[in-house]
Amino acid sequence: MKRITILGSTGSIGVQALQVIERLGWQVVALTAHSNTALLHEQVRKFNVKHFACGNAEEIANCAAIPCDIVLNAIVGIAGLRPTVAALEAGNPVALANKESLVAGGHLVMALASAKGLPILPVDSEHSAIFQCLHVGDIVLDVPGDRGRSPLRKLILTASGGAFFGKTREELTHVTAADALCHPTWNMGAKITVDSATLFNKGLEVIEAAWLFGMHVDDIDVVVHRQSIVHSLVEYNDGAVLAQLGAPDMQLPIQYALTYPARLPMPAQRLNLAVAGTLTFEAVDHDTFPAIELCKTAWRRGGLACAALNGANEAANALFRQGKLGFLDITPMVEQAMLAIPAGDPRNLEDIFAVDNAARQSIKNYALRIMH
Ligand code: NDP
Ligand code: MG
Repeated sequence: MKRITILGSTGSIGVQALQVIERLGWQVVALTAHSNTALLHEQVRKFNVKHFACGNAEEIANCAAIPCDIVLNAIVGIAGLRPTVAALEAGNPVALANKESLVAGGHLVMALASAKGLPILPVDSEHSAIFQCLHVGDIVLDVPGDRGRSPLRKLILTASGGAFFGKTREELTHVTAADALCHPTWNMGAKITVDSATLFNKGLEVIEAAWLFGMHVDDIDVVVHRQSIVHSLVEYNDGAVLAQLGAPDMQLPIQYALTYPARLPMPAQRLNLAVAGTLTFEAVDHDTFPAIELCKTAWRRGGLACAALNGANEAANALFRQGKLGFLDITPMVEQAMLAIPAGDPRNLEDIFAVDNAARQSIKNYALRIMH
């Protein structure tokens, strides 16, 4: 039995994580939410939790720092960064769903984890797939941090394509948030579902993978795979390609991150390849969906550009969901906000939050200009 803290327990990942925890019979140390006090209190009662916080950033970071066996960070957005840092500083291993922690703060988060000798275990399904392809049985196939000796040549992330796959720019002119929120294969929170439609989610995942696996973005490819059964692949230097397959169900990557290196049974839907039938793979239409290339550009410019891109995307994503911004405005606006920030890397969290704020402000200014 392990002791676990879940940050963002009322969200899509948080709720599924508690289902996993209930089956495993683990002890819950702390839970946090942002505004859904009713569900948080229900969870606190059900799992007999002593520590919880709702909405107060400082209390949430304090919860992350309570000693435990693993902190699952399932907060959405940059709000997850301080809690990730707080968990690591306190010596807690982290299972990370909050990709924005790595996109905006990859330099600091990875350096801190390495200095403390703590793992960051991926929960994102693509990164879990790659992690699983690198850890077959007890053997680690990669030589982390040593690309010269590593036999790993490429990471290949799969993308469902989101709600608007196959659409032309013309067809995207008038799409709404309600259209974007109809995801073909995954049932997720609103922010990530809209990010899936713009393909920013996949771009953020490229940056996340670059940090987690020590790869250059040029060695990370994306391929559209509509069925979400092949969760991602790795290519070795002899040309061998390994993939992890499974029914689209986040409980598997969540459980694996929590129980690694153990693989425990799960009552989940089993993959039946004959029923799945045809699996398809297609190139990304980068002209219509330029977000992945934009994320790679940000990564090449450095950590500050990534933080700016992340903040700008969060702001633009929210304005689109509020009906205040057109779908096709999102990516060019994020690009402008990102390019306005000088290249370079952050020295500390304050640098990251300053750039995040500046980028959000530029998005608000652009949006105001468009509306008038
Ligand atoms: P949800 O929107 O469903 O849940 C977000 C959680 O974070 C909720 O518990 C919410 O609390 C809390 N939260 C929101 N804002 C804040 C804030 N400012 N401070 C502290 N807590 C906050 O998101 P998802 O579960 O879909 O996603 C969570 C993370 O996991 C994201 O980074 C996403 O990219 C990643 N992820 C999600 C996947 C999925 O299948 N959903 C798949 C892969 C990655 P409240 O409910 O009270 O608002
Ligand atoms: Mg993913």
